[in-house]
Amino acid sequence: MYGQMMQQPLLISSLIVHAERHHGDREVVSRRVEGDIHRTTYKQIAQRARQVAQALANLGVCLGDRVATLAWNGYRHMELYYGVSGSGAVLHTVNPRLHPDQIVYIADHAEDQAMFFDLTFWPLIQAVAGRTKTVKHWVAMCDRAHLPADAAKLPGLLCYEDLLAAQDGRYAWPEFEENTASSLCYTSGTTGNPKGVLYSHRSTVLHTLAAALPDCLGVGATDCVLPVVPMFHVNSWGIVYLAPMTGAKLVLPGPGLDGKSLYELFESEGVTVSAGVPTVWQGLLAYVDANGLKFSTMRRSAIGGSACPPAMIRKFLDDYGVRVIHAWGMTEMSPIGTAAAFKVQHVTQTAEQRLAVMATQGRAVYGVDMKIVGEDGKELPWDGQASGDLLVRGPWILSRYFKDEGGNPLVPDADGHGWFPTGDVAKISPEGYMIITDRSKDVIKSGGEWIGSIDLENIAMAHPAVAMAACIAAKHPKWDERPLLVVMKKPGAEVTKEDLLAFFEGKIAKWWTPDDVVFVDAIPLGATGKMQKNKLRDQFREYTLPTA
Ligand code: AMP
Repeated sequence: MYGQMMQQPLLISSLIVHAERHHGDREVVSRRVEGDIHRTTYKQIAQRARQVAQALANLGVCLGDRVATLAWNGYRHMELYYGVSGSGAVLHTVNPRLHPDQIVYIADHAEDQAMFFDLTFWPLIQAVAGRTKTVKHWVAMCDRAHLPADAAKLPGLLCYEDLLAAQDGRYAWPEFEENTASSLCYTSGTTGNPKGVLYSHRSTVLHTLAAALPDCLGVGATDCVLPVVPMFHVNSWGIVYLAPMTGAKLVLPGPGLDGKSLYELFESEGVTVSAGVPTVWQGLLAYVDANGLKFSTMRRSAIGGSACPPAMIRKFLDDYGVRVIHAWGMTEMSPIGTAAAFKVQHVTQTAEQRLAVMATQGRAVYGVDMKIVGEDGKELPWDGQASGDLLVRGPWILSRYFKDEGGNPLVPDADGHGWFPTGDVAKISPEGYMIITDRSKDVIKSGGEWIGSIDLENIAMAHPAVAMAACIAAKHPKWDERPLLVVMKKPGAEVTKEDLLAFFEGKIAKWWTPDDVVFVDAIPLGATGKMQKNKLRDQFREYTLPTA
């Protein structure tokens, strides 16, 4: 027997339709590439997204065609989010921090039909335009007055505002099956070619509902959200969908990601919730600290993408009254999998006990299930001790990469449903809080036992002289691998190897202490700001430890 409720597909267009009807006057504020602050509303965004859809139809873009963007967080990018996906085409957000060769590779792999870009990326566009195989239309996201002076270098270059001005916005969003592809994002891919993750309307809407929950990003209509996390990296963790769904005000920082620019927007717009990777917060906190400032409206900051050092969680809370929501996920997971929100027993705990909960990667958000398995594939207990490969599943988790790259990635299960192997190594507490201890591709195994490089990095990062620290496995004749700590000092700061090693005393099991410390001028960062430990491993492949 079937239930008798309405059959209404979960489509991305429904989010902006809802915002237009129920939160039409709510503001979307953007720092533009043009240099000014731009203000619009959900009503206007909805109207212009329909104009985008009309313009795409005129350009010959059909259902399922890929339309690429190379753009910052801004209102025009948001109009494309809805205009492209809403019309049934696939929004391919390209990471502009990739090398031009990689951009050409993914544009060809995705078979992009059109590429919309912010003016910042005009030099990049010129580097790739003659090399891509399928892109027919190049669109500068500006008005005619701001087109590049040398626009003639790219014959046929289109102007975004001209395209929209030619449309009347009288367009009805098409209805189609909710499993239709909506957007495409390539993984940052530190090894080999990037792989495409193809989201659907259904997966996106379900992820958005879960992301907004109080124990996740916790956003409601009275909030003001500023995603620092870029719209070109896993759809800014869903925030550009979540804000219209909830009626929250949205503030888009454009290219201004330095501490000063972000702080000014936080204060002038009354931002209450934000989200980003730890590196960004380091810049913001350094600026706020150096200038003796406070956050007057911020109450929540979601941090993820790489492990958030506990020292940062403590600083946000103790010095600024901002609660960090430490979250974990992946491009392949839309991205949210877990968030470190309290359970009822934590409410009355001491500050130190609560900090320990906040520092975990968190517990599973409804929709995501997880388990850890040993080398034999058998599930390990949730005892806070056993560490194993972390597997996940759920309706917003990838089942195959775009065009089946790499074949079937899933680990089969007796119940017929597969599990996605995250490549992360984790333990899970009896209360269900997951703690990433390492990555399987990036793990330190000493005498057959795991050593958590992230724990070691967190401790090192809490030292006042350390700007950035990476812990990698170095070869050891007896133990196979031992930890080597690679440290970048803060400008002008001094610390010795002995000081740093002493700093670990009492904080970890003695045998976890790194065997050596090397100081470097810079730690290589990937396109999304993460430490590229594979590069460091290459650099120190032949390194001889003093203990060896
Ligand atoms: P990406 O697909 O680029 O978002 O990278 C996903 C990977 O980043 C995960 O598999 C983890 O290895 C890492 N990651 C994401 N969030 C966290 C976190 N909170 N703590 C530690 N690692 C994280």
